[in-house]
Amino acid sequence: MSAVFANQTLVELIRDKSYSETLKNVYTFQPQLSFFEKYWSAWYTYMNNDVLATGLMFFLLHEFMYFFRSLPWFIIDQMPYFRKWKLQPTKIPSVKEQWHCFKSVILSHFLVEAIPIWTFHPMCVKLGISVEVPFPSIKRMALEIGLFFILEDMWHYWAHRLFHYGIFYKYIHKQHHRYAAPFGLSAEYAHPAETMSLGFGTVGMPILYVMYTGKLHLFTLCVWITCRLFQAVDSHSGYDFPWSLNKFLPFWAGAEHHDLHHHYFIGNYASSFRWWDFCLDTEAGPEAKAAREERMKIKAESNAKKSN
Ligand SMILES: [Zn+2]
Ligand SMILES: [Zn+2]
Repeated sequence: MSAVFANQTLVELIRDKSYSETLKNVYTFQPQLSFFEKYWSAWYTYMNNDVLATGLMFFLLHEFMYFFRSLPWFIIDQMPYFRKWKLQPTKIPSVKEQWHCFKSVILSHFLVEAIPIWTFHPMCVKLGISVEVPFPSIKRMALEIGLFFILEDMWHYWAHRLFHYGIFYKYIHKQHHRYAAPFGLSAEYAHPAETMSLGFGTVGMPILYVMYTGKLHLFTLCVWITCRLFQAVDSHSGYDFPWSLNKFLPFWAGAEHHDLHHHYFIGNYASSFRWWDFCLDTEAGPEAKAAREERMKIKAESNAKKSN
């Protein structure tokens, strides 16, 4: 029996032989619910098994959103018109390269991510992550997602920086750096150990949050994961447009920030924001390097003056 409605009699009344019939019943008996709440509650009621309903939904959400967001970038790569906004215009990924990446990502999704996704619901129940309708307010969801972005970015900065040290780079992170000019699909092209440890920032931070607050809705988590997937794919797109988000929010990293990381291998370790690399002086690229060297030179000169 599903926990999507607090009232179990309602679940029995609404459940029908097909998903569309169940949805029709939701429209009849629960007209006050919003559009998404109706589809959500019909899904859980129809499935009648929350473990399977959550597992299948998360797996499909991840696959659909990742490839759906990567597709426009694949199409843009085939159109010379867009080259003027390509960050490394001479390095256009071939169809063969993208096909290799696609196969590897799909295989890794099934091998690495399928198991945690299937065991996710029992953990949600234990932690108090709710699937019930109605959903929390949009304001609450926006605040939580904003916080997850900040926490994930912090985790990503330090874990990614660590991945650039010696053996971690050689045996794990090197795979992700196969493409010096990244493209949308390559966002999740990585060693399984990297997928799991960097993935902790996306899934583990909301878990820590619910352990502390005792309150989080699974729908908020779905929206957050979608936003994070879009951010990851876009930052690997290789394109920086005049209308890209970083032009309006100067602290947003975007493709320009991460492309430099792939190009120069050093610096720009954060995922969503620029503040960690800025404050800890790890910005990538020749301009940042020249500015860093200039600052070091001034400091060395002033130290030399002091000691004279
Ligand atoms: Zn890296
Ligand atoms: Zn990358």
